[in-house]
Amino acid sequence: MYLLGIDIGGTYIKLGVCDKEKLVFSEKVNTNKFSDFNEFICYIDNWLTLKNIRDKIQSIGIGAPNGNYYTGTIEEAPNLKWGKKINLRESFSKHFSVPVVVHNDANAAALAEKYFGDAKNFTDFIVLTLGTGVGSGIFVNNKLLLGVNGLAGEVGHTALSIESKRKCTCGKIGCVEEYISERGIIKNYLNFNKKIKYNLTAELIFKKAEKNELSALRALQLTGNYLGILISNLINIFNPQAIFITGGIAMAHKYFLDNVLAKCNENVLPILRKTYKIIISSLSHTGYAGVLGSVVPFLYENI
Ligand SMILES: [Zn+2]
Repeated sequence: MYLLGIDIGGTYIKLGVCDKEKLVFSEKVNTNKFSDFNEFICYIDNWLTLKNIRDKIQSIGIGAPNGNYYTGTIEEAPNLKWGKKINLRESFSKHFSVPVVVHNDANAAALAEKYFGDAKNFTDFIVLTLGTGVGSGIFVNNKLLLGVNGLAGEVGHTALSIESKRKCTCGKIGCVEEYISERGIIKNYLNFNKKIKYNLTAELIFKKAEKNELSALRALQLTGNYLGILISNLINIFNPQAIFITGGIAMAHKYFLDNVLAKCNENVLPILRKTYKIIISSLSHTGYAGVLGSVVPFLYENI
């Protein structure tokens, strides 16, 4: 049995063919390589045909920003230029004549953690994806929390401050993403170093931290403080066994994890101290957690 997993991101799309246990082969392509959605489907068709596996694919799982399990669509994903609403499930199942499941990318990351990663023994946990945006996949009582419209887990657009001058891409002010995502880290850095004239990236700030630049180190510690507060809020609400941190920013955890732990411990309700673990996801190093997570619904019935 072969399954196709697709992880659609704003920058890269990752494809992977899996059997029941592991990735058999995979590929990463630039998202902006495809000017429209049909071009993307044709590319996948060709790729599978070249690998001589086109007719052996039994099901397709897709993880995407704003991907909705119930409707099978992506709606108003800010980093995708394929139109306001794309019906992924319908298009893929028509083209390939196999069952298709769509999840949002953070939920796919949580499914990967549960079935391929370090959350195997946990019934209640949260996976935070930190990258261009901030997402979360939440497991409660051994089930992925979807919400009534399939939109649960949008922690990136909960407010950390209502007096903030930081305006979010969603139109609100003070969202978590303005403090903890890649653009959040850049804004934190500009707090300490206002003289920068060139275009900053989070990656550049990590490189500056590597060289012990004080502004970069302080910016990442501040990011850790914000993340610690976000996690303490989540612990107060969900009382999970563990919080996993994943995504590109998780790779730089050595610069902010101490602050996360201290700030979380300080802000969590005293009765909840020592009830949780904060874990850097070991799957984030593979880069293919989203691909693995997207095929989980076909491997396990309990989804
Ligand atoms: Zn927002």
